[in-house]
This record gives sequence, structure tokens and C-alpha cells, in this order.
Amino acid sequence: MSFSFDIKCVLCYIYSSMIDVKLLSITANAEKLIEECGRTAYLSVGVRNSDSTARFIRMLIKSGHLSVLEHASASFRIKGGSRAFTHQLVRHRMASFTQQSQRYVNENNFSFVIPQSIENNNEAKKLFISHLENTKYLYNQLLSIGIKKEDARFVLPNAIESEIVITANFREWRHILFIRGEKQAQWEIRKIAIDILKALKLKAPNCFYDMKIEDSIISIDKTGKY
Ligand SMILES: Cc1cc2nc3c(=O)[nH]c(=O)nc-3n(C[C@H](O)[C@H](O)[C@H](O)COP(=O)(O)OP(=O)(O)OC[C@H]3O[C@@H](n4cnc5c(N)ncnc54)[C@H](O)[C@@H]3O)c2cc1C
Repeated sequence: MSFSFDIKCVLCYIYSSMIDVKLLSITANAEKLIEECGRTAYLSVGVRNSDSTARFIRMLIKSGHLSVLEHASASFRIKGGSRAFTHQLVRHRMASFTQQSQRYVNENNFSFVIPQSIENNNEAKKLFISHLENTKYLYNQLLSIGIKKEDARFVLPNAIESEIVITANFREWRHILFIRGEKQAQWEIRKIAIDILKALKLKAPNCFYDMKIEDSIISIDKTGKY
């Protein structure tokens, strides 16, 4: 079955590539807590002072004693990412997730993400939007003949936007942000990783001190410059 594509319909599409990353919660006094926990190993909790935290946490990271970073965690809400992106994200087994359900949420007017390569190519963009128009039409047709959302969703695309909340401890954040911010990672998850790293660097600069962002890529800097 094929559906006719009316170019005017493009105007009624909601497509947004506006990623919105919001820090929902972070362990209070995270770096002080990590220092206090970490110093238990050396029974040196009593020697803390106003500038011991940075030195201590950086020492933990340099020596690879990363389990201490698990005492602090942060939660983020991510809106505007595609289902392709969320599928990559939920592979991280040490993190916790809650995601918009396609069983309970009606996707009859879904928003979607257009990759830049398609956005920049008129022919590809037309084909892409035509396909999503047909998909949306098909989804609505299925609902209208009594198919439940949980089954109608089988026709939905990877491009569909999906909201997700993720919680992870700082050790796992370092891991996720490094492998998802690297050059080999896909542009969408890399962009989101960078937004998250920026937020974490503001709140816990020492726990992420060696993770640098350059040319939209995350890498670990071992020179100690960062
Ligand atoms: C560039 C890139 C390309 C990818 N391509 C593909 C692909 O083509 N196909 C595909 O299926 N996946 C792919 N992945 C996903 C990848 O295989 C991992 O599933 C995902 O990145 C989660 O990484 P992880 O297991 O290291 O991390 P997490 O699940 O976040 O775990 C963190 C760390 O905990 C430890 N850990 C967790 N669980 C275990 C366990 N059961 N046993 C031992 N140690 C454990 C490991 O040290 C692990 O690194 C890709 C990932 C990247 C970054």
C-alpha cells in the first residue's frame, strides 16, 4: 500500500532537532562526599582542609581508584533525542533509566529528528519526510481500526523523538561520556554527551577534570593541563 505525499503537509510536521539536556539532581556536596569516603581507605578523614578535595580526587583518578567516584550520582532528563539515540544510551548497564512509553503515550503526532546529512540534501529530505508522513498516516490508520498503541508502534521509526531520564554514578558517567563523546561515536549521542559533561564539570569539576571537549569531541587529557 502506498500513500500520496502532499508537500504542504510538511508544514504541519513537528520536527525538532533541539536537544534539551536538563540536570535533574546531583549528590549534594558530591566532591566533599567522595573525599570523605575515599579517605576512609587511608584513615585520613581528619586531615581534610579547604583545598584538599581537588588534590585528593585528582589523585584517585590518576591512580585509577575510580570506585570511590561511585558514591556520587547525577540524573538528567533528555528531550529531543531520537529513539536511535535512546537505544544506544540504554545499553549502559550500570545506569538507570525511565523512558517515555510507546505503549501508553499516543504517538499520533510524533516529532522526529532529521540527521544533518539529510537536512542538507533536498532530495533526501523530501524522501525522508515523505516516509515519516506515510508512517504517521499508517500508525493513525491502525489506531482507527482498533489496533492498540502497543502494537501500532511497531511501524514507528528510529527517528521518532523519545524522552528519557538517566541516573548514573560518577564512575559510570565518566565511562559513558568518554565512549559516547569520542570521535567514533555518532553525532547525536556525542552532542548529548558533551552537554552532560559540561553540566557535570560545573558541579563536580575535579571528578571530570581530565575530560576535555575539543572540536565537539571528548577525550581524556593526561597532560594534567585540564
Ligand atoms: C562507537 C560505538 C559503536 C558501537 N557499536 C555497536 C554495535 O555495532 N553493536 C552493538 O551491539 N553494540 C555496539 N555498541 C555498544 C557497546 O557494545 C556497548 O554495549 C555499550 O557501549 C555499553 O558499553 P559498556 O558495556 O562498556 O558499558 P556499561 O554497560 O555502561 O558498563 C560499564 C562497565 O561496566 C563493566 N561491565 C558492565 N557489565 C559487565 C558484565 N556483564 N561483565 C563484565 N563487566 C561488565 C564493564 O567494564 C563496562 O565497560 C557500540 C558502542 C560504541 C561506543
